Amino acid sequence: MSYCASRYQTIRRHTVEVMVGSVGVGGAHPLRLQSMTTSDTQDIDATVRQSIALAEVGCEIVRVTAPNVAAAKCLKEIREKFTAAGFAHVPLVADIHFLPSAAMEAVEHVEKVRVNPGNYADKKKFAVKEYSDADYDRELERLHESFSPLVKRSKELGRAMRIGTNHGSLSDRIMNRYGDTPLGMVESALEFLRIARIHDYHAIMLSMKASNPKVMIQAYRLLVERMQREDMHYPLHLGVTEAGDGEDGRIKSAIGIGSLLLDGLGDTIRVSLTEDSVYEIPVARAIAEKAMSLWKTPNPKSQTPNSGESDSIDPYHFTRRETTTVQLSEKCVVGPEQPPRVIVLSTLTGLADAAKALTAPKLKDTPAEGLLVPIKSSTDLQTLEAKLKSTPLPVEFLALELDASLTPGQVESAIRNPKSKIALVRRFGPADVNLFEEFAALVRRHGHFLAVEIDAENFGPYEPVLRRLGDAGLIFTLSALRLPAIAAHAIGSCRLLLEHLKAAGSRAPLWIRNTAGTAVRGDNSFLSKLLEASFLSGSLLCDGVGDLVSIETEPDAARAAKLTYNVLQGAGARISKTEFVACPSCGRTLFDLQTTTQRIRAQTGHLKGVKIAIMGCIVNGPGEMADADFGYVGGAPGKINLYVGKNCVQYNIPQAEADARLIALIREHGKWADPEPHQLANA
Ligand code: SF4
Repeated sequence: MSYCASRYQTIRRHTVEVMVGSVGVGGAHPLRLQSMTTSDTQDIDATVRQSIALAEVGCEIVRVTAPNVAAAKCLKEIREKFTAAGFAHVPLVADIHFLPSAAMEAVEHVEKVRVNPGNYADKKKFAVKEYSDADYDRELERLHESFSPLVKRSKELGRAMRIGTNHGSLSDRIMNRYGDTPLGMVESALEFLRIARIHDYHAIMLSMKASNPKVMIQAYRLLVERMQREDMHYPLHLGVTEAGDGEDGRIKSAIGIGSLLLDGLGDTIRVSLTEDSVYEIPVARAIAEKAMSLWKTPNPKSQTPNSGESDSIDPYHFTRRETTTVQLSEKCVVGPEQPPRVIVLSTLTGLADAAKALTAPKLKDTPAEGLLVPIKSSTDLQTLEAKLKSTPLPVEFLALELDASLTPGQVESAIRNPKSKIALVRRFGPADVNLFEEFAALVRRHGHFLAVEIDAENFGPYEPVLRRLGDAGLIFTLSALRLPAIAAHAIGSCRLLLEHLKAAGSRAPLWIRNTAGTAVRGDNSFLSKLLEASFLSGSLLCDGVGDLVSIETEPDAARAAKLTYNVLQGAGARISKTEFVACPSCGRTLFDLQTTTQRIRAQTGHLKGVKIAIMGCIVNGPGEMADADFGYVGGAPGKINLYVGKNCVQYNIPQAEADARLIALIREHGKWADPEPHQLANA
């Protein structure tokens, strides 16, 4: 059974409607936008102020942490004051970890309670223990006893509940049986879901958050697949947790949330950023609007082909697609074991400017490897030849996007003696099969490459030809979605293309082109370009697909190169800098997360491949920072605990000393390098 109705179109998953106060989630309701206050919950006025600020920018459901009974009691007054301020229609959610007593208090006052099945009524000891079936059953009985009162009271009061699983925050029971895996996350939620169903309580939604978008995507898919099997249709709350701030935080969130939404999953979303929570809402709204625009345009051919079962990608486990090798230069190889290569677009007239921009020192660690130039005519080819004599290009290869009017004969003279390898980029229509053969022969004669674009509905006659010609020198790509097509978004088009390649026995690499034509609903804002690139490239890369990437919607060459590397980093496909996992902060936070994250990034942002977690509290921090190499975690007010992996190695350090101690720790573990001058400029 698949996790979605179509991997080629956005057919919204059918779910039951869950009412959170007066706000409907799932069913026929639009995607709901959520966020969370970061104030101390016991500071009632501050929490009400933050709730109002969130509601005023469009947050439809506001979450507030309830770390203990005293904080949970404050929710009563917070709810009353929020209502008195004119926001009776905006529901509040109590965020509970560990304490059933806090949950039982909170459920009296607010419309929804979120429980973390990894720690509800469970003290995490990270104990390694073999659980026999009898031990396991005893644990489940204990869980039933602890969780049932909350379920029953929620049912009596008409409250909703989120079973919110987090990667890295699973119970010892689950960890020992399933590991810290998507399967473990799903099983953890199902344990709680089954108890709720025993009590015939169904006002439930679920989440499977992780800081790693790949893990998060797989966990949600697996959860839905499991629920479908058991005929359960509860709504999903989507989010990437500890995504960080700025461009990186937005990219990670868009990769995880966008990938799932475009497969039709998700009913409410939160974009977690280590910034003031009000900044989360415009990002969440932009993501939601893009996804919902696809709900409105169902394609009548939607059922062919239909599900994830029919394509060649395993949606539940990451495996990189096996491709042939393409040697674009001595240093730039495309294929297995190679990172996805970065291509930047330049106009012919802007070639000198692009070349200059790409030599900027700040791009030393994130170089563009290919330059894509549109060529409209023979005159353009001559102009290019002349420009190349005077303009050395700081890239490994050139990609020339040929107008359909250009013949192989016209192109041949221009590619006879170039300084670098060339990839000719050309779209072939239904009647161009012979032309495709001619171009393939041309590039092979001169040791160049052909990036081929063929629409899915035209692929049939090309399959036998491709089978006969083999993959040498060929790359496949798509620059636009041309409707009507079986696929209704570019991710679906690329998946269909892969199916056709597989049918033709081809393992040619895939170049992911982010263009105005592949966007779901693009506009000219940088945020839109970032989100669209994260949806398309991130989603494919998280499925192990994509060997070259270009973001052609961004005209500034240097900015496009940086953005492409950031998307690659967000998808875990190519690491070019330090990876930061930073929690968004909440009422438990013990230091200023925003300034601390910025300060630590300024000092350590150049450590390529090192993962540093910055977490606001010890309660969840160590678990939720998942697979970070080093952790900087709030231990007590003004005190920091430092971690190496999951082990706390320094307790309660005065915060003023913590940065230096963290750097010393990184040095001790052989992961420190002094920043080069261009890296200091980047910081
Ligand atoms: S890790 Fe951060 S967001 Fe999570 S509970 Fe602690 S302070 Fe709140």
